Amino acid sequence: MAYLELRNVNKWFGDFHVLKNINETIEKGEVLVICGPSGSGKSTLIRCINRLEEIDRGEILFEGKNIHDKSVDINNLRAEIGIVFQQFNLYPHLTVLKNITLAPIKVRKMPKDEAENIALELLERVGIKDQAHKYPAELSGGQQQRVAIARALAMKPKVMLFDEPTSALDPEMINEVLNVMKDLARDGMTMLCVTHEMGFAREVADRVIFMDGGEILERGTPEHFFTNPTHERTKAFLKEIL
Ligand code: ADP
Ligand code: MG
Repeated sequence: MAYLELRNVNKWFGDFHVLKNINETIEKGEVLVICGPSGSGKSTLIRCINRLEEIDRGEILFEGKNIHDKSVDINNLRAEIGIVFQQFNLYPHLTVLKNITLAPIKVRKMPKDEAENIALELLERVGIKDQAHKYPAELSGGQQQRVAIARALAMKPKVMLFDEPTSALDPEMINEVLNVMKDLARDGMTMLCVTHEMGFAREVADRVIFMDGGEILERGTPEHFFTNPTHERTKAFLKEIL
């Protein structure tokens, strides 16, 4: 049984066919990088995997269960499949520590002390334990994104989704976020990363898929992808970003 499987996933926004027959299988511990031009459906695809979007046709199976089934507890699903966005999406009125402990206390019913201990451990892991009592606006973009990663990890997710997590960052902050993601990958986290950071893709991706116009046009190992892409549109895309 596949860990995460997308079967003939189709989605429309009104008349617009945004995801066209997406088929993909992700194994436990695998790191999949998703790239492609703006508007190709990358964000929509990963948002369907933790049900920030619904699908119209097909199935998404996680550990054999259809995640769009009516019986699925959506809070539990989102705890198991965490997501990190381009724009961090931290709660501005809560401290870093509270941003991280809110969901474990509310959704996982964790005692406050335990949630705070875990949050501090995670902040240490992402290198910003000293920022625990600050508010998001007092942090740099790179620090805020590391808080967002720690917040997702606090739910003990089985899968992490990343939607262009470094695209809103100043260049000097990109590596501090990529390094956290590399550590996670090395620890065996199953990850789907929408990113145009091709150095990251080369270094840690097990596979790369290229989307255009709502379809997966090309898939393969990073080696295949960078040295021997077959589709003209993949070649054109790589030429633009490399
Ligand atoms: P990407 O992440 O690859 O840039 P998106 O998944 O964000 O692409 O968007 C794919 C297409 O779907 C775009 O043309 C976008 O304008 C459209 N789209 C995204 N979200 C919505 C929405 N909520 N309603 C209507 N159209 C949308
Ligand atoms: Mg996007």
